[in-house]
Amino acid sequence: SFRQPEFISVNAEKGMAFSLQERQILGIHGLLPPKVETQEIQALRFQKNLKKLHDPLEKYIYLMGIQERNEKLFYRVLMEDIEELMPIVYTPTVGLACTQYGHIFRRPKGLFISILDRGHIRSILDNWPDTNVAVIVVTDGERILGLGDLGVYGMGIPVGKLCLYTACAGIRPEKCLPVVIDVGTDNETLLKDPLYMGLYQKRDRSQAYDDLIDEFMEAVVDKYGQDTLIQFEDFGNHNAFRFLRKYREKYCTFNDDIQGTASVALAGLLAAQRAVGKPITEHRVLFLGAGEAALGIANLIVMAMMETGMTQAEARKKIWMYDKDGLLVKGTDSNQEAFTHESPGDVQSFLDAVNAIKPTAIIGVAGAGRLFTHDVIKSMGTLNERPIIFALSNPTNKAECTAEEAYTLTDGRCLFASGSPFGPVTLSDGRVLTPGQGNNAYIFPGVGLAVILSGVRHISDTVFLETLAEQLTDKELAEGRLYPPLSNIREVSIQMAVKVVEYLYAKGMAFHYPEPVDKDAFVRATVWKTDYESFLPDTYDWPGVNFSPK
Ligand code: NAP
Ligand code: MN
Repeated sequence: SFRQPEFISVNAEKGMAFSLQERQILGIHGLLPPKVETQEIQALRFQKNLKKLHDPLEKYIYLMGIQERNEKLFYRVLMEDIEELMPIVYTPTVGLACTQYGHIFRRPKGLFISILDRGHIRSILDNWPDTNVAVIVVTDGERILGLGDLGVYGMGIPVGKLCLYTACAGIRPEKCLPVVIDVGTDNETLLKDPLYMGLYQKRDRSQAYDDLIDEFMEAVVDKYGQDTLIQFEDFGNHNAFRFLRKYREKYCTFNDDIQGTASVALAGLLAAQRAVGKPITEHRVLFLGAGEAALGIANLIVMAMMETGMTQAEARKKIWMYDKDGLLVKGTDSNQEAFTHESPGDVQSFLDAVNAIKPTAIIGVAGAGRLFTHDVIKSMGTLNERPIIFALSNPTNKAECTAEEAYTLTDGRCLFASGSPFGPVTLSDGRVLTPGQGNNAYIFPGVGLAVILSGVRHISDTVFLETLAEQLTDKELAEGRLYPPLSNIREVSIQMAVKVVEYLYAKGMAFHYPEPVDKDAFVRATVWKTDYESFLPDTYDWPGVNFSPK
């Protein structure tokens, strides 16, 4: 690992920021240029070099190199320019990095566990140098972002997500462990790639796979404790739902693709509802796509409606889904059973569905490109004074429509959010609207911080209702924003963590005792800082001591 003790060498940790005394005591004096540099100057050099690079993948490689050499400097620069650098460390560039993983590889990061290691996972965990792990992000690489099966190349995702745990919520990097479980890949290109780094075999889909994941969960708890947060990430649709059901009451776990997405989408809807001035219970939502994201969001909307006193059955009636095979109606499917209703008439297309159901909101999570056609958007504009249009599919070219299309075709009346970033749009009347980015990074770092600080045993869905909608000012809402600016994400995450901590204690779900009186101070006190630590030993005198015999 890049954090092993022997790596505290000349350049590691502080580089030229080592003081003269530190250089002398560590035996590295003369191995650095004479100047003792501040972190500010180091950051300046880093930023200047970064600006010279134009290719996002090169920026990624450069950034990851700094993370290995000087972690504090890396996080300082990342946090100072999070809006600009998040798309490099995380989507969309991290996706490109994953597809190229074996080609751009420098040093390993994270822990690799393969299906051949069955029976030995605990000893693999013992090889990891940090013993205080509090958060794990694990993937089996089957459904990396919108890119499909990337096998062990998927490691970039846990690494990137955990960067955001530290950058956004100040969780100490040594508490974070990225894991890839290698059970093979069905990606033919990778199986033929001489630079591929995993097992050259098709995915094991037998009982051995389930046993491996079971063993992993047990080994983690055995090593790091019952309250270790285990985030499932980018598992295939079927396994994601299965493991969530199987583990959610037994372990401190959540699935970001299902629950994190649900939370960020609901926050956007609640913000939109503030602008529309209609309670959530009066909305009708039509999804395009009926997978992990759609079901996660739909279930959380139902919970939000139920909070206001509606029954589950009534709430479910407000939600419709349209997938590859068309509108889900009674008798068509079982997985999404709860959201199937009597057919509203002859529906041949998504446009027909919009016109028959008359939704107040359409949410695109099909990952299949520009399916909110101009006619669909115009219909939404005719049916609603303030239509809600969320085009959440990633990356940008998979979004159901662009921000510009949504705004211009509804005369700037729609409330728009997307999964990938779109810039502000200027309308013909001169108004400038800023689309929201429903980025999961608004949710998981803050929730994760709250969960590990409160020592919860398992994570209830209701936690994901504690969203960030109130953090938006009226002015930001008027500009079209449904989420706070990304540049504020650190404060947003911390405020969210405080809210979740308060909720967890109020509901008796927190197990960290004694209960902190001031939750805000409690959360803020744990936040990791990027200031350098001293490497000097604690030296002092014994004043007046006399060792001569009396
Ligand atoms: P998933 O579980 O694979 O679900 C995709 C769903 O869309 C499936 O129900 C699929 O049907 C359906 N679909 C595929 N092609 C379609 C078409 N032409 N018309 C209608 N439906 C179609 O994937 P997911 O995890 O839900 O993610 C879906 C998309 O949401 C991805 O692009 C992802 O990047 C995005 N997403 C965004 C955020 C965010 O913005 N914060 C978070 C999570 C996910 P079949 O099952 O029949 O193929
Ligand atoms: Mn994901």
